[in-house]
Amino acid sequence: MRRDTATAPPLSVEEARARILANLMPVEDTELLRLSAASGRVLAADLSAREPVPGFANSAMDGYALAAHSLPQSGERHLRVIGKSLAGHPHTGTVGADECVRIMTGAMLPPGCDTVIMQEEVRTAGEEIVIGAGHRAGENVRLPGGDIPGGSRVLSGGRRLRPADLGVIASLGLAQVQVRRRVRVAVFGTGDELREPGTPLAPGQIYERNRYTLGASLANLGAEVRDLGIVPDEPAAIRAAMHQTMQADAVLTSGGVSVGDTDYVRQILGELGEVRFWRVAMKPGKPLAFGRLGRAWFFGLPGNPVSALVTFQLFVAPALRALAGEAYREPLTLRARTLGAFDKRPGRAEFARGMLRREAGAWLVETAGSQDSSALSSMSRADCLILLPAAAATVPAGSEVEVMPLDALP
Ligand code: AMP
Ligand code: MG
Repeated sequence: MRRDTATAPPLSVEEARARILANLMPVEDTELLRLSAASGRVLAADLSAREPVPGFANSAMDGYALAAHSLPQSGERHLRVIGKSLAGHPHTGTVGADECVRIMTGAMLPPGCDTVIMQEEVRTAGEEIVIGAGHRAGENVRLPGGDIPGGSRVLSGGRRLRPADLGVIASLGLAQVQVRRRVRVAVFGTGDELREPGTPLAPGQIYERNRYTLGASLANLGAEVRDLGIVPDEPAAIRAAMHQTMQADAVLTSGGVSVGDTDYVRQILGELGEVRFWRVAMKPGKPLAFGRLGRAWFFGLPGNPVSALVTFQLFVAPALRALAGEAYREPLTLRARTLGAFDKRPGRAEFARGMLRREAGAWLVETAGSQDSSALSSMSRADCLILLPAAAATVPAGSEVEVMPLDALP
């Protein structure tokens, strides 16, 4: 390990995130996917519309298609219904003055028509309809290109595809889409005390949690996970695990990055790779080793389960999004009023687990329970993190704070 990182003071959260994001380059390889398999993947390049959408003028309503000059200026006018245009079955003949065509939503406007009158707004009289005054030329018509003009850019490269995006791509007639490959992430936990759920515990042992919380978080981000299991607190075992991860895009470990007697991860990262920083002035989550291991970016997350999850969300998730090629976006936050006090000391940013509720048009936030870094149940209960800035001391009840909804985190 380099001397300067060993003694450097903890970084602020913003500085740490900026340093992480500064050097990340998106994975370059792309793959062509069927549209139905592309949800949540990151678009490799801009997508433009060759043709306009819709491709032809069509009706927005069930009713009657006609030419605007057949509309009465005042009083009523009788028009003869000369045919039908159904969705997928256009009426091909021309429609003249004093004529109209029965038309359904999505059906093509017949030649000579530019206006649709809703069926609720006409009377039928045998072969004819009767229309009153007050209609507008062009009403209830969807014009070609009204949704997407031909030649326009529809989606930008770096977009993580959402359901509506897939529909937009389908509307262009594209069956496949070029996306960046998934980010490959290797994960292992460290700790002699850790056992897999489903096995008995000896005295002093606990069940492993972090590979479950991190694995699920990685799955939500669409990463390809290689799980190396639990590695004991032995330098040789940690070295061996690290050797296996050097080809990944990112490596996540949990535990063993602090200053305890068996915390070897940082030291071995320094031997086999490079430690860029390892402390952030925050709670939960102070020890967070960031560096380089082979061609991978290395995140040595703290062992405490809440710390591991919070540092994942604040630092690893934005990094993985950047590696995936996604454009960076600040996390969404909202303002809320605290229902109780939050103990805090100045000098480090704190991320308290909170529960939001809406009352009389305002967001209120209360503690989700224990703020101990090992208490996962309050993380499970929480629906937001309350952002208590580094400079702040204890935040009294009734204060306005910024909160980050947990399901809106990047
Ligand atoms: P460490 O950072 O290794 O000192 O771990 C800090 C605390 O987190 C200790 O109480 C560990 O037992 C606990 N811990 C570490 N890794 C895990 C894990 N994967 N699952 C649950 N607890 C863990
Ligand atoms: Mg440990």
